[in-house]
Amino acid sequence: MKELILVKYGEIILKGGNRPVFERVLMKNIQNAIKNIDDADMRIAQATIYIEPHDTGKMDVIMERLSKIFGIVSITRAAMVEKDLEQIKKMAKAYCGPDLQPGKRFKVEAKRSDKSFPLTSTEIGMEVGGYLDDTCDGLIVDVHTPEVTVKVEVRDFAAYVYCVQNKIHGQGGMPIGTGSKATLLLSGGIDSPVAGHMMAKRGIEIDAVNFFSFPYTSERAKEKVTELAEILAQYTSKVNLYIVPFTEIQLEIRDHAPEEHMTLIMRRFMMRIAERLARQNKSMALITGESAGQVASQTLAALNVTNAVVEMPVLRPLVGMDKDEIIERAREIGTFETSILPYEDCCTVFTPKHPTVNPKLANIEKSERALDIEPLIQRALDGVEKMTIYPKF
Ligand code: ATP
Ligand code: MG
Repeated sequence: MKELILVKYGEIILKGGNRPVFERVLMKNIQNAIKNIDDADMRIAQATIYIEPHDTGKMDVIMERLSKIFGIVSITRAAMVEKDLEQIKKMAKAYCGPDLQPGKRFKVEAKRSDKSFPLTSTEIGMEVGGYLDDTCDGLIVDVHTPEVTVKVEVRDFAAYVYCVQNKIHGQGGMPIGTGSKATLLLSGGIDSPVAGHMMAKRGIEIDAVNFFSFPYTSERAKEKVTELAEILAQYTSKVNLYIVPFTEIQLEIRDHAPEEHMTLIMRRFMMRIAERLARQNKSMALITGESAGQVASQTLAALNVTNAVVEMPVLRPLVGMDKDEIIERAREIGTFETSILPYEDCCTVFTPKHPTVNPKLANIEKSERALDIEPLIQRALDGVEKMTIYPKF
């Protein structure tokens, strides 16, 4: 029996003229993700990618890897069989047999994209369903609430049989590389990795910037950020991480600006520096993990103040989400456990007791005049450490 993996991708996107681009990028991303697991033959036809690993023992690992690739809607193992009704019936029984135990409610769903096949989809479904009903003990046909759905697809070169219940969901979204690049402000917290994942899901390549306040934050805090980038890279294949020395700026702000403005001025520096790095690296937008009203620096008034120093679009995919929803996402994508490790973040070290919640831009700008903004930015940029982060599985 020949077993292979069928990968389905979103059909809505395929209606546009960018279908070939989308497919080429998706194929490349898949090849890249599985190349060090096993050699596999791949081909693409009719909104499906067929993957035949040379070593069938590697199927599960490959499927797990595919479940992290954006653009894929579902992944399933299937048995390949000649386009012959009798053979299809036998294969359905042999391949889906373990799922068709006595007492199970089942149905057969067929799809015929090869219109030269003599039976219609409905007829194939009835034939195969009748056969399974006759030859497997105690099955119950139930087309409305089946526990097991046997799927038969009659396609160009062959027919494929699988059990729908064994199909796994893909990430959805668009393949990375179809949507330019954006720069994520990546802290060690819960929110920003989720924000990065959400934008990457739209096909956007991710560069990450972290502001690091050595010695107020430890080496271990940097490792935590690196680890988060490694998890993000599971989805994006790689992440360029820029570590920006931030201590001098924070000390200057602490010593020369009013305490209640400290956080916002610091956030404005982060945005300015991130935008410079983004421009240098051909990034088209910034991404943050801000969510409206979550903390004092994320009220709409505060976001206006932060936004005022940049020209690029600032994407805030979490803006309308509750913390609970963000945490749920963080767990799903696998960043949560790392995010809650206790290492201090640069902002927690320099947090004022009473931050302004309703800041006026003019007042913040006035407080900032005590600082030598441009040289501070330049020195921070001069000290940037660049790392290329690859996935950790
Ligand atoms: P997170 O959980 O992402 O740290 P947060 O709720 O703690 O977010 P803030 O600390 O106000 O919120 O930060 C808001 C956003 O600013 C973060 O989501 C992140 O995008 C960015 N940011 C904050 N601190 C840093 C940092 N040290 N390095 C890079 N970006 C940062
Ligand atoms: Mg934070």
